[in-house]
Amino acid sequence: MSTFQAPKGTYDLTPPRSATFLAVREAISAPLRDSGYGYIETPGFENVELFARGVGESTDIVTKEMYTLTTKGGDQLALRPEGTASVLRAALEANLHKAGNLPVKLWYSGSYYRYERPQAGRYRHFSQVGAEAIGTEDPALDAELIILADQAYRALGLRQFRILLNSLGDKECRPVYREALQTFLRDLDLDEETRRRIEINPLRVLDDKRADVQKQLTDAPKLRDYLCDACKAYHEEVRALITAAGVVFEDDEKLVRGLDYYTRTTFEFVHDGLGSQSAVGGGGRYDGLSEMIGGPELPSVGWALGVDRTVLALEAEGVELDLPATTSVYAVPLGEEARRVLFGVVTELRRAGIAADFAFGGRGLKGAMKSANRSGARYTLVAGERDLAEGAVQLKDMESGEQSAVPLAEVPAELAKRLG
Ligand code: AMP
Repeated sequence: MSTFQAPKGTYDLTPPRSATFLAVREAISAPLRDSGYGYIETPGFENVELFARGVGESTDIVTKEMYTLTTKGGDQLALRPEGTASVLRAALEANLHKAGNLPVKLWYSGSYYRYERPQAGRYRHFSQVGAEAIGTEDPALDAELIILADQAYRALGLRQFRILLNSLGDKECRPVYREALQTFLRDLDLDEETRRRIEINPLRVLDDKRADVQKQLTDAPKLRDYLCDACKAYHEEVRALITAAGVVFEDDEKLVRGLDYYTRTTFEFVHDGLGSQSAVGGGGRYDGLSEMIGGPELPSVGWALGVDRTVLALEAEGVELDLPATTSVYAVPLGEEARRVLFGVVTELRRAGIAADFAFGGRGLKGAMKSANRSGARYTLVAGERDLAEGAVQLKDMESGEQSAVPLAEVPAELAKRLG
């Protein structure tokens, strides 16, 4: 071990587990790529004000969890705590919404940073794959995103996840509800911090995990009863489209989520094998966000799925992904001359698109064969002086154990044939 360790709340991805992370990113993004979403990448940090305005001044993310820094030039930056505000900022900056092709559909994958209290499934550095559909108000778009996330989880083999769905109303009906809720909450027996929250972001109080708070909330006014007709119709259409696609969901009136920008559709994917950090992904519609960050009116919807927790969910369900072996052929040279020749063969194989590796470091046959086994390679090539004198190498099928001499010049063609 070195003198240093990964910072608190972070961890390193190392082989072989790291392969699962890559496969999860791939599985989540594949349905997006097949559905018209283009890849976007934004910087790991942004002007702090973007998140303050975009995510919300009253949210835990902004008030407690942001990694902020002042540059030598005096700029106030923050490591990105989430993806949506950055992606929308970038789309506006590049005028993607003016290209006349709405919605602008984008997907991304990357690292996010929140100064949270670390625990199982909650880290200070984590990884998300996200999708945003910008500039269109259409219930089919909300439905599309929920269906694609469901498809991604299912493709990975996950079964014990649930989809929670709610509508938060819009700028017409939510303020009316907000006021009714505040009036109700002000009469409850709550601590100072929660009282402050009533004034800033009362919907978040509904999200309080404490039993004594939840007990007092039984008779709280329900947002459902305050939704305007347009929001109701919109929500019904989203529900109908998801249902028609055979995607099962649960209506969850308490689902408010931790970010301020959501309007109408909100949803969360939870996994029942993860304990308290059960949300594997979430998202919703954010019709007002563009204007909040100085852009035009651009109704949009999106989600972000957590890669770390998706891997934990796979482990909780005992799902082993069918990861293809990374090495197909492993070359074991016996002696200096064989080393030169086999290294050349390996280079040739790689150029022919065959994944090949080599026993580096001049180890003996036994140790090198152990490495060959560990590599998962289907075939090994072994060559010693006698083989070379005959212009051949020994090709061993690691599954059947069969071994035969193959003329050197024919090795690439023979392997290509055998590997199909
Ligand atoms: P949020 O933006 O908070 O809705 O997060 C979306 C998803 O990112 C969550 O459902 C989690 O899977 C993941 N996520 C958020 N915060 C963390 C964290 N601190 N550690 C690990 N995963 C996280």
